[in-house]
Amino acid sequence: MQVHDLTLMLSLFIASMTGAIVLSAITRMSQTIEGARYWAIALGILSVAYLSQLTLQELPRSIMVVTFNTCLIVGHAFWLIGAWHFVHSPPSKQKVLLLFVPILVVSLVFTLIIPDRSIRLLVIGVWLLCVRANYAWVLWQHAKQDKNEYIAVKITVSVVLLELILSFLYTLYGAFGALPSIGEQFSWVGGYTWVVALIGIVAGIPLLMLLSAGRFVRKLEYAAHHDELTALLNRRGLTKCLDNIMPLSQRKCRSLTVIMLDIDHFKRINDTFGHLTGDQILAHVGRQLHASVRASDLVTRWGGEEFCIVLFDTNPAHALQLAEKVRHAFTDSLVQVNKQVGEVTLSAGIASTETVSKAAFEATQLQADNALYQAKHNGRNRSELHLIEDV
Ligand code: GH3
Ligand code: MG
Ligand code: MG
Repeated sequence: MQVHDLTLMLSLFIASMTGAIVLSAITRMSQTIEGARYWAIALGILSVAYLSQLTLQELPRSIMVVTFNTCLIVGHAFWLIGAWHFVHSPPSKQKVLLLFVPILVVSLVFTLIIPDRSIRLLVIGVWLLCVRANYAWVLWQHAKQDKNEYIAVKITVSVVLLELILSFLYTLYGAFGALPSIGEQFSWVGGYTWVVALIGIVAGIPLLMLLSAGRFVRKLEYAAHHDELTALLNRRGLTKCLDNIMPLSQRKCRSLTVIMLDIDHFKRINDTFGHLTGDQILAHVGRQLHASVRASDLVTRWGGEEFCIVLFDTNPAHALQLAEKVRHAFTDSLVQVNKQVGEVTLSAGIASTETVSKAAFEATQLQADNALYQAKHNGRNRSELHLIEDV
């Protein structure tokens, strides 16, 4: 079966146009998906490249060649820039300019000033191979750290590898063989290369969508389960974590301890120094708690200026030590961060249970809250243990 180059160009145009529209729609859904906007622009520019092959055949050849190559280069550069943004390493302006200005100039020189199709095909082909290989490499390195994006990236990289093989053959054949121009006559290398380019775009669009939408959903999930100011878990986040770990903790752990912490006279601080200072102090508690506990401990902003720490297999005496350590570390470090506010203290309430379950957590949290109330009652800036005899 022979597929006419121009039929492939039409398919490529439709595919990349569709991709540009779909990815713009995703970008409009949320501005925070890194890279998606660049991928939408890339596909839009590539669609112009393929359209130029369909519409500019009647004009002088150089016009069509310049339009096609310029759009092809800029489109693929944007595609790679999108990947750099996606993996959280946005390029500098110089890097962007270096990426496509030299190749654009070279391509224009070998089209308009020293017209030489072989050299032009060779140079653009090598550039394209490097850009696509870098795209696959960047995503691959990223996927090694972020397992959520592993499968989508694996498929993307496989498709790009196929593209690379065909582009390599196309470049060799174009530079040293006799590759007919697009639309002139059928050639196997040309035909297959454009078929693979079509596969790259048709398979690339859902994969880019998957990566973008996956990132978006994870950001939403993170926002739903974390407090923005302190970056700690919120109550919904704690419930989800407890649901996840409880089956294993029930089998492995023998005790569960809750520490409730509350900033003393926080209302007074807000009233005297303003809410912005209050927020800075809350963020400082978040950082301090994060630095003081083990990765397996759950730290939550329980609400307002109250915090809850859940510890497994930590006896009340150790929990008391930890609460004291956190309280002193917070007060001492805050004086250094914010000299204006003066001494800010925390009170803590601690309770423990030997039953590890969700219901036991809820009961223990109430007991820790009572102990916290006791600490406030006893003069603040102290920790109190919930005593079993109190029950
Ligand atoms: P106590 O020592 O008894 O705990 O007194 P307190 O003033 O700390 O307690 P109270 O419950 O009377 O006041 C808590 C204050 O925390 C009131 C509220 O405006 C403030 N607050 C709650 N959430 C935030 C927040 O996100 N940012 C700021 N700046 N303040 C907050
Ligand atoms: Mg308070
Ligand atoms: Mg309070």
